[in-house]
This record gives sequence, C-alpha cells and structure tokens, in this order.
Amino acid sequence: MSLRLQVKKPKEQSTEYDVAIIGSGPASLSCGLYSARYRMKTIIIGDTIGGQLNLTNIVENYLGFSKITATDLISRFKKHVEEYDVEFNLDRVNSIKKEGSYFIIRTVNGKEIKAKSIVLAIGLKRRKLNVPGENEFAGKGVSYCSICDAAFFKDAAAVAIVGGGDSALEGALLLSEYAKKVYLIHRRDQFRGQPILVNAVKSRKNIEIVYNSIVKEIKGDKKVNSVKIKNVVSGEERELQVNGIFIEIGFEPDIELPRSIGIELDENGFIKVNEYMSTNVEGVFAAGDCTNMWKGFRQIITATAQGAVAAYSAYKYLSEKWNKN
Ligand code: NAP
Repeated sequence: MSLRLQVKKPKEQSTEYDVAIIGSGPASLSCGLYSARYRMKTIIIGDTIGGQLNLTNIVENYLGFSKITATDLISRFKKHVEEYDVEFNLDRVNSIKKEGSYFIIRTVNGKEIKAKSIVLAIGLKRRKLNVPGENEFAGKGVSYCSICDAAFFKDAAAVAIVGGGDSALEGALLLSEYAKKVYLIHRRDQFRGQPILVNAVKSRKNIEIVYNSIVKEIKGDKKVNSVKIKNVVSGEERELQVNGIFIEIGFEPDIELPRSIGIELDENGFIKVNEYMSTNVEGVFAAGDCTNMWKGFRQIITATAQGAVAAYSAYKYLSEKWNKN
C-alpha cells in the first residue's frame, strides 16, 4: 500500500527521448531534474513515485529538513521535477533491447519508448525469510512494511518484527505505538542500524529485543497466531504468540533487467558503476540503491547525488556521441 501520487499529464506525448530513466525513487527524480536542466528530452518510467522512500515514515537526515515526513519529501521532489519538461510514465518496464543506436523499452502496459541513453535507477526489492508459512500468510498477518501496515495492528496483543537494520528499528518503534507488545527478533546480538534508533528501541517499555534468534516457521489458522523461533547460540526453540509478523530484513537487487542488456553486476548483484555512474554498456548509466557505489552506503542524499551525476554523464555521452548541444 505505497503512495501513488497523481501525476500531471505532460503537454506533448512523444516516444523518442534523449534519456529514459527507469525507476521513480529519489535517484530517478534527481536525475530527471538535472537531465531536463541539461535540456535533454527526458522520461521517467516507474510505477511508484518515491520508490522505497514510501517505506519510510519520518526523514531526519536529508540536508535542509530537520524533520519531514517521507510523503511530504516525495511531494516536494515531484513538484520540483514538474517545474521542468519531464514526462512521467507510471508503468513497469518489461524489457529493454538495443536496436541500432537506440534502446527500445517496452512497458508492461504495452508502451514502446525509444531512447538514446538509459539511466537505471531501479532500486531494490524486499528480501524474504523463506520460511514455512511466510507465503501462506502473506497479507494475513505477514507484512514487509511496518509503515504501510502498522495501523492494522492497533491494540493487538503482540506483534513480531524481524531484522537488525534501520528499517526494523524504525518499524519496531512505530509498531510499539499500536500493538501492546512488540518482539524485535534479530539474528545477532549487535544491531546494524543507527545507534540513535537502537537507543530509542531499548528505552521503549513495550519492545522486547530477542537477540541471536531466527524465525523457523510462521504459524496460524486463517491468520498468523504464532512464530516459532530458535536461539542460534543455545539452540533453544520456542513459540511466540503474535497477531502478526513484520519482515524488515533489507532489500536485494533485481538482477534480471540489467543482465538482459549485458550490464556487469558485482558478486551481490549490484550494478557496477564508475565514479561517473557509467556502466560497462555504452549509453547506460545507473544511480541509487541498485548500484555498488560507495560501499553500499544507501541514503536519500547519496541516491539523489548519484542521480545528478548520472544525468551529467548522460549529457556528456549525448554531446560526444550524438552531437547534442
Ligand atoms: P539492512 O540495513 O540491510 O539490514 C537488514 C537487517 O536484516 C540486518 O540486520 C540483517 O542482519 C538482517 N537480515 C538480513 N537477512 C536476514 C535473514 N535472512 N534472516 C534474518 N535477518 C536477516 O536493511 P534495512 O534496515 O531495510 O535498511 C536498508 C537501507 O535503508 C540501509 O542503508 C538503511 O540505513 C536505510 N534506511 C535508513 C533509514 C533512516 O535513515 N532513517 C530508515 C530505513 C532504512 P545482519 O545485521 O546480521 O546482517
């Protein structure tokens, strides 16, 4: 249930572009802004404006905003891009092929887009636990987004949340405002997330941290009613009675689309880029969480910075190869 904003219809429809930006998160929007300012004919193709930012509640670390809701920040990003001549196509990409000097992009809804260059800003997809009951109870107590679904657990006796990064920590804090009891289950005894969030979680009375533990099974009848967990140090297994379980164990790259056009990926599936956000394929650039840039330091500010650099590189490429000025 992520945010889908209404996008203004562009004045003119065309199917040939200087730059096609695939994805619609912060990296993509920043890239769109810069591309348009370089006077390149630009299209953004993606089904959810804001991308993964829709999965965050409050943002406190984007320069210039000491505290802003993710929804507000996305609206501001979009409004800013709309001041320029950038076309939006709210759709998913089905395939990309190189035909002559052009990239031909086909969308799920059957649109064909011809572009001289591409920026892949495709973000990441959610990681799953892959345990019994996870698929069976998806949407019936199993959720991957506390921001989206926490309110459904208002006054619930107990919920569990799995993970040790910022998402799980933020999720636990949010859930603790709705459910009476929150179990935060982490596979280690050290959190990966920011200390400020760890401290907040530790001081929240109705959050119980379950360290060194993994989920073995999610059980229920019509809906989730318990999770079986195992302590990886002692080997002890036990069952927690919960009304729901939130799986917030990070994200992984989508490897199929980049591979289909010969993009080189690192050992974890992230798109290999150089400092100019160029990939190994001429005319294809990448930006944001899907890249292997900056040792995986993935923030809104790093994504928007990479989007700007990718636009600059696309502009240089078009100037040199297509004599665009
Ligand atoms: P993350 O940082 O990759 O953390 C994932 C967590 O899940 C880790 O603690 C990991 O354990 C655990 N995990 C991974 N696979 C698991 C499995 N199969 N079973 C059990 N546990 C598993 O992911 P994230 O928390 O979603 O954050 C993603 C990015 O968004 C990060 O860069 C984060 O900083 C950013 N983010 C920032 C904010 C903010 O600034 N307010 C909010 C949300 C997200 P290990 O620690 O043992 O590896």
